[in-house]
Amino acid sequence: MTAPQTTPPPGRPSAFFPHRHLLGIEALSADEIGRLLDLADQYANMPKDDERARRLLRNRTVMNLFFEDSTRTRTSFEVAALRLGADVINMSVGTSSIKKGETLLDTAMTLNAMKPDVLVVRHGDSGAVSLLSQKVDGSVINAGDGRHEHPTQALLDALTIRRRLGRLNGLLVAICGDVLHSRVARSNILLLSKMGARIRVIAPTTLLPGNVERFGVEVFTDMRKGLKDVDIVMMLRLQIERMQGAYVPSIREYFHFFGLDYEKLAAAKPNALIMHPGPMNRGVEIDSEVADDINRSVIREQVEMGVAVRMACLDALTRPLTGEKGAAQ
Ligand code: ASP
Repeated sequence: MTAPQTTPPPGRPSAFFPHRHLLGIEALSADEIGRLLDLADQYANMPKDDERARRLLRNRTVMNLFFEDSTRTRTSFEVAALRLGADVINMSVGTSSIKKGETLLDTAMTLNAMKPDVLVVRHGDSGAVSLLSQKVDGSVINAGDGRHEHPTQALLDALTIRRRLGRLNGLLVAICGDVLHSRVARSNILLLSKMGARIRVIAPTTLLPGNVERFGVEVFTDMRKGLKDVDIVMMLRLQIERMQGAYVPSIREYFHFFGLDYEKLAAAKPNALIMHPGPMNRGVEIDSEVADDINRSVIREQVEMGVAVRMACLDALTRPLTGEKGAAQ
């Protein structure tokens, strides 16, 4: 008896995107990042009910496996997968009663038996998503692991900047606030520097990783000095849930010195863009009026670009299954 004809299994890297998984920006070249951004740009310009896109992942299964809370990332992966015609399964997993390591690997093996083509995974521990990727047959996308990486956030931030300013190369970008606990900061530093931007980090010393200069960034502990002449002001959430002990004297004092208000923003270029990955703590790291500034805040566009970027990532990783075609080219 001959084996039935099947599509090639997931896990074979494609010529378009020669990686089986998307675990971080660190493993990507500038060319690969550029290709993903070009593809995402095309998805961003497509009508949301594009017929070719809707057929791309028909009969494919995307599983969202979130061990940590998420609003934007989980829903935008879901919308992206649905727009590409995939079947989507959402799982939110509590980690309270069982040891985390056991939960993760047991869950991975259970889900693998259901043969998902793509697993989108968020976990509170740095490195957990990579560990899981070694135990499954499909492709894995890191939707945020601890303080380590959040690659699709960095890609959507880059796409937002590129669509507004036409380039990444040569821009001066300030990443401000809780850099220590932020996977968004890490992925953005990696991506933006690979694409030729210059990065400044601005934070109190308690919220800076030790030896942060090794990432090739300039370090400031004073917002007014650090924001001088920047093109982009990227604010970070104060990640209270990852803090043990006091990293800032009080929220009031933190806002006074590090919260973005119009007075501090005046140091940046007059048309500098304001970004925040969300969820925002208004009045903690950012003033509400600045966050809602219709001319300079691109926070809503970031959310919109999230769907396009996630469509591009799902398309790129599943090209061995879809015959290298894609829907946006
Ligand atoms: N949503 C982003 C993340 O998951 C940023 C944040 O939570 O502050 O890392």
